[in-house]
Amino acid sequence: MPVPLPDAMTMPSLSTQATPKIGDRPHHEPLLGLSRDELGARLRVLGVPERQIRMRVRQLWSWLYVRGATDMAAMTDIAKDLRAELGQAFTLERPKIETEQVSVDGTRKWLLRLADGKEVETVYIPEEDRGTLCISSQVGCTLTCSFCHTGTQKLVRNLTAGEIVGQIMLARDRLGDWPGATAPDPRGLPDSDRKITNVVLMGMGEPLYNFANVRDAMAITADGEGLSISKRRITLSTSGVVPEIPRWGEEAGTMLAISLHAVRDELRDTLVPINKKWPLKELLAACRAYPGLSNAKRITFEYVMLKGVNDSIADAKALVRLLAKIPAKINLIPFNPWPGAPFECSDWEQIEKFAEVVNRAGYASPVRSPRGRDIMAACGQLKSASVKQRASERLIQPA
Ligand code: SAH
Ligand code: SF4
Repeated sequence: MPVPLPDAMTMPSLSTQATPKIGDRPHHEPLLGLSRDELGARLRVLGVPERQIRMRVRQLWSWLYVRGATDMAAMTDIAKDLRAELGQAFTLERPKIETEQVSVDGTRKWLLRLADGKEVETVYIPEEDRGTLCISSQVGCTLTCSFCHTGTQKLVRNLTAGEIVGQIMLARDRLGDWPGATAPDPRGLPDSDRKITNVVLMGMGEPLYNFANVRDAMAITADGEGLSISKRRITLSTSGVVPEIPRWGEEAGTMLAISLHAVRDELRDTLVPINKKWPLKELLAACRAYPGLSNAKRITFEYVMLKGVNDSIADAKALVRLLAKIPAKINLIPFNPWPGAPFECSDWEQIEKFAEVVNRAGYASPVRSPRGRDIMAACGQLKSASVKQRASERLIQPA
């Protein structure tokens, strides 16, 4: 039975650390991901006078999240001495890009190396009316959904809030999605000029098993004086960590997606094993109670199309019956294959028939077109190479 990460496997989150005491001067501490209060506490330790704290926090925040500064030296409205001190105490580093791949359809995938050498993947998907950044919440995943490549990765830890927000910042760096240095609008680029308009927590990991760090990172993401991507454009996808769903609604309030994939407990138990702990009835009750639901704010139900497993017309009918009273969108995802996967994608004809039933029930354009398949960037194909590399390193060890 999959379980949340035991404490020993999690990284302490900077954003949940105790306030530092005078004398504990930080040294090259990562600044990304700290809340305004935490930032203020760090500045106090550096001896910034109390009456200046709010202003300094505001300045730093704007340099970090509105302008995307990567160097303290650029912060010209902060006194030179303080800038030098900040440079000693903090780092603005993002995760390092190990590789960048660009698909024939314009999708980009970055393999990122974190400070401890672990790796995660981030994917950018450009579309005509939007640009979606798919970010990771954990290295690997403790859950073992049988159709998901990430679930086969052994190495797992939670990402810090800084590593989560750092993925968005790094993607903005690479895509040139900052407003430039001259007198930027305090909210950054207007929506119409942005490359990244939406963020989805659909990369590696189960975001609700890393609740506090994902919440803190999304608070910075949605902050109107921060990265300024509205909550309506942020979607958290969960395999169904039922007790955390209402809490997420209250504390973060982003859009929600549920990895449903089956309409019967017996089948869902095998595809999404967390279902054994929180079965469909409990999951759907939590969905119905999600705060703020309306026809304008619907829950997305993801349903991966697996040939001969969950793709019958009877399943399609049961699906629309199951969701009847919930403001919902249905997203049929053609299964994305990966080496050694024990499933095949449903035939296109079958997907169309299935989609027709869903369409007739009033759900518009339910099939998600696979993106970035040629670079293994599509849903469920992400798996960082750390484990594989280790295996190959063993192979070349001298006899
Ligand atoms: N752990 C979270 C978010 C990451 S997965 C979750 O499970 O919701 C993002 C979506 O991709 C989920 O709906 C997941 O079930 C789906 N997915 C996983 N593997 C897939 C695959 N091989 N093909 C298509 N979709 C897949
Ligand atoms: Fe984890 Fe989501 Fe993959 Fe399941 S589908 S193993 S929860 S990343």
